[in-house]
Amino acid sequence: MNSATDTYVRPKLGLGSAALDEQEQHAAVEVLRSKNLFRYYGDDPAHPPQRVARLETEFAQWIGSAYAVAVSSGTTALETALAAIAVGPGDEVIVPAWSWLSCATAIVRLGALPVFAEIDDTLCLAPSEIERLTTPRTRAVLVVHYQGVAADLDAIINAAHRRGLFVLEDCAEAPGTRYRGRPVGAWGDVAIYSFQHNKPMTAGEGGMVVTRDIRTYERAVRMADLGQYRPYHHAITPPKEPAFSGSNFRMSELTAAIALVQLQKVDAIKDHCRALQSRIREQVGELPGITWRTIPDPAGDFGFELYFFIDDPKLVKPFQTALDQRQVNCLPRTGTYPQYYRENILTGRSHHPAASPFRDLKPWPGPGYRPEDFPVTEDLTRRFIALPIGWQYTPDDADHIAAALLAVHRELLG
Ligand SMILES: *Cc1c(COP(=O)(O)O)cnc(C)c1O
Repeated sequence: MNSATDTYVRPKLGLGSAALDEQEQHAAVEVLRSKNLFRYYGDDPAHPPQRVARLETEFAQWIGSAYAVAVSSGTTALETALAAIAVGPGDEVIVPAWSWLSCATAIVRLGALPVFAEIDDTLCLAPSEIERLTTPRTRAVLVVHYQGVAADLDAIINAAHRRGLFVLEDCAEAPGTRYRGRPVGAWGDVAIYSFQHNKPMTAGEGGMVVTRDIRTYERAVRMADLGQYRPYHHAITPPKEPAFSGSNFRMSELTAAIALVQLQKVDAIKDHCRALQSRIREQVGELPGITWRTIPDPAGDFGFELYFFIDDPKLVKPFQTALDQRQVNCLPRTGTYPQYYRENILTGRSHHPAASPFRDLKPWPGPGYRPEDFPVTEDLTRRFIALPIGWQYTPDDADHIAAALLAVHRELLG
């Protein structure tokens, strides 16, 4: 090991959170000075609040969709989107077994049954799973654009729409990722985003629902605002749907002010990550014993996490340890693990026994909810190493990562 490596200090991780600066501070202070913290009204009728409304308009334009509804988190965005397309008890929703907790909990909260699907080497939903898992009760497919990479949308949307299923795109980890020239979130029937701390653009917490369908829009507003559809929204499209009992998932003006600034930054964050990812890939090339993650559309990739699979599972841990010793940030499973290992799925419980969609499935966990039912997901997710790229990474960091990768490969697989 040379002296350059000895003195090298690994860069800090973080995307939107690492790009926070005076701009977000000013934006937040401006809202506090205005004393209008609630989106629909304040104490001064001459100066109505406007940040949440502006965020919705700008976000929908940025994605290239018609309507957006700002909400309190990515998770409440999922619940809002599922409610908007009328998913409920007795319905099934196909969802990749490998995804964030919320993707399953949101379906369960709506009373519907999450039906877990295998991923493929995109680390997103395997399109062929839609045919295998569709039943007369299937209502929707929840596709997750996992860690900045667009899923194989053409195949997924074709398979789903041919069977009359809604497509809900979970873009929480992929705001601004494109697929065949258009942003993800503009492809399916409804899409969601998250502005939680770890996401490419952040306001600490926050979320967005996007759709081009008027009815889905109105129902999303109603779900997120206690069933109400206030005059602000009438001006966008007049009410046609009956009220129903929704929840309060509204976004505050403070959150929107910060998200509006981050929306101006997220494309630059993407360009930065893409450039460094290409720089690493070009220097490393193809290596025997290692396969890069399949990216359905490399031209539209966000590029904030580089994944490769090691053929020999026994070498994954040593490879990761050796990279870590060389001051390379690298993660096994990146904090995610298959849904069927999560405590809430293992218990099958909801807040009340009668509310659980799993209540009649005995024994529990049964087929479709056990590790042995997902040989591909089990294999793939045990053989990858993820190399995150952050906003504060430099070209020198990319060069260091590439050199470390080549050195560790030589050491363990050469
Ligand atoms: C983060 C995340 C969510 C949930 O977003 P929160 O804002 O944390 O509630 C949903 N789906 C995916 C894929 C995510 O990564």
